[in-house]
Amino acid sequence: MHPRERELIYPWAEVPAPGCLRTVRPGVHWLRMPLPFALDHINVWLLEDEVDGVAGFTVVDCGIASEPTRAAWEQIFASAFNGRPLLRVIATHFHPDHLGCAAWLAAGGERQRWQAPLWMTLGEYAFGKFLSGAQGEARGHIAAAHFRAHGVTDEQLLAQVKARAMHHYPALVPAVPEAFRRIMDGDEIAIGPRGAKRVFRVIVGYGHAPEHASLYCAPQRGEGALLISGDMVLPRISTNVSVFETEPEGNPLPRYLRSLDHYLMLPADTLVLPSHGKPFLGLHRIVAEQHAHHAARLQEVAAACATPKSAADIVPLLFPRALDLHQSTFALGEALAHLHALWYDGRLARTRDTDGVYRFARVDA
Ligand SMILES: [Zn+2]
Repeated sequence: MHPRERELIYPWAEVPAPGCLRTVRPGVHWLRMPLPFALDHINVWLLEDEVDGVAGFTVVDCGIASEPTRAAWEQIFASAFNGRPLLRVIATHFHPDHLGCAAWLAAGGERQRWQAPLWMTLGEYAFGKFLSGAQGEARGHIAAAHFRAHGVTDEQLLAQVKARAMHHYPALVPAVPEAFRRIMDGDEIAIGPRGAKRVFRVIVGYGHAPEHASLYCAPQRGEGALLISGDMVLPRISTNVSVFETEPEGNPLPRYLRSLDHYLMLPADTLVLPSHGKPFLGLHRIVAEQHAHHAARLQEVAAACATPKSAADIVPLLFPRALDLHQSTFALGEALAHLHALWYDGRLARTRDTDGVYRFARVDA
């Protein structure tokens, strides 16, 4: 058992099988969609709803665009929908596991049974739209150059990084709907059948994605608080906070940590519905644990930079295990996020050396 899991309460021991529902609150259902990665699933949340007098469902997050995901969804439509339509698709953020299947779901699945609008923040919609349509050489070159500038010298890995940057996102998110309904921080969205609506408040968070939306429902009618957290709060793994080639001078880590603190204003016994892992109680513990985790990593990285280090030098320190390509891109991004946090804070200085590689060194060393 992961040490963190001992500190959290998991009300449901069993996870739903693909194509099956598990009801976590009246009208709130937990589904799992498969992912072909080391992280092998995403949770999506199906909420009974009524819009414009039509009874149906709202879904929060979608799964990637893949045959197994579409098959699981078709099974849900056949077993649980009972002829009712999907009324809206809400995506917490642009990452492929959350947005990939949105266009297909919005258009009514295999048989195009309905037209449902996509609800997203502007930052996430625009980013997903831009990456989905951006196949090609230029993106690959930028990614390879970014990795090279941060100390990756393995030509085979650089070629893989280039190919991944060109094809990965459009393959998993082949289309994003042409129009969307914008949601913003603080917006309230009433979701539920007539007479049983829950009001969800949008909480925008930064650092994991440009404008990530979580959905919070305050305690009501004897029911405890509920948070659909997306990837901002996860029970078993740390949320990825990375500097990627699309924003190479970004400083996402302090933004992420500041965003996490908003969750401390929610009740400690909020039931958290995360995108990965199982629903849990222990929101404030995760926030405290994430702060401690990143503080320790910043210390390690700062200590290592007693002599100049590139991001590639930092990766084995933070991730001592062997990494596949997918994990390597996130590992370099995470290493850079920690370096940048210290650099923006004035604790590290950055130089670009004659080999074209950025290295960071402690200013007090
Ligand atoms: Zn994500």
